[in-house]
Amino acid sequence: MPHILDNQLKRALAERIRYYNELGIYDFYRREPAVARISAVPDAATCETPTIQPEQREEMTPRSKAVAVPVMPKDDLFEVANPKPESGVDDPAQALRLIREDLGDCTRCRLHKQGRKQIVFGVGNPKADLMFIGEAPGADEDQQGEPFVGRAGQLLNNMIKAMGLQREDVYIANIIKCRPPGNRTPERDECETCSPFLMRQIAVIKPKVIVALGAVAAKTLLAINAPMSEFRGRWFDFRGTKLAVTYHPAFLLRDPRQKKETWKDLQMVMKELGMAIPAKGAE
Ligand code: URA
Repeated sequence: MPHILDNQLKRALAERIRYYNELGIYDFYRREPAVARISAVPDAATCETPTIQPEQREEMTPRSKAVAVPVMPKDDLFEVANPKPESGVDDPAQALRLIREDLGDCTRCRLHKQGRKQIVFGVGNPKADLMFIGEAPGADEDQQGEPFVGRAGQLLNNMIKAMGLQREDVYIANIIKCRPPGNRTPERDECETCSPFLMRQIAVIKPKVIVALGAVAAKTLLAINAPMSEFRGRWFDFRGTKLAVTYHPAFLLRDPRQKKETWKDLQMVMKELGMAIPAKGAE
């Protein structure tokens, strides 16, 4: 189909885009036609199973085989006409502050009225080579306003240390920024509403490697519905950045035998980053 828009349609589109910008949404993608999407991605693709904890979900079998949903490239026309607040800002720390400001005291999804105490934006080095992305803040994170500060966070810190790094060297964020009630799995629409801000954080930080922690982060970022066994031990391309998947630290707390598998994943990451591999893994 030719992509020639008449002026009236262009104006209507520009108006609609301005409206979305006011909501903090800047990235737009062309989706596959609905029929193709439905057959390509089953309803279990991301953000489902409302009451199961991440550590229980980790190895759940998907309802269909892994199928990638092609994400169409962003239309530059929209970007030029509607620059994000951080566009053209060279200092990543300042750019992140602008994204945080744009997020404001977010009320874009239902989570703001379901008991969240505060928004958990992300923490760490704005110029990090390595970025970890989890699922959603839990009770400790909601209390402290920082991702991965509870028991799972302590284990993540140990994983980072085992790599020869400090927590301050990397950047840590989640797919969504508000705690879902009872730590339930984020709903698809919550991920869709919140993740544009994460995409903007990634675009500013420009990590060399992203590590998705657990199946929910992997499925959401990659739009692939697959079990952990298919995600682990290989590289994915995430908008031009290398992405690896490993077990969620909360899952490792329940099944510590999998720590050695996680260490293999982290070694793969270290190799990619040109880091020396220490003899011993995370305890
Ligand atoms: N689990 C997550 O996925 N993220 C956190 O920040 C804490 C626990």
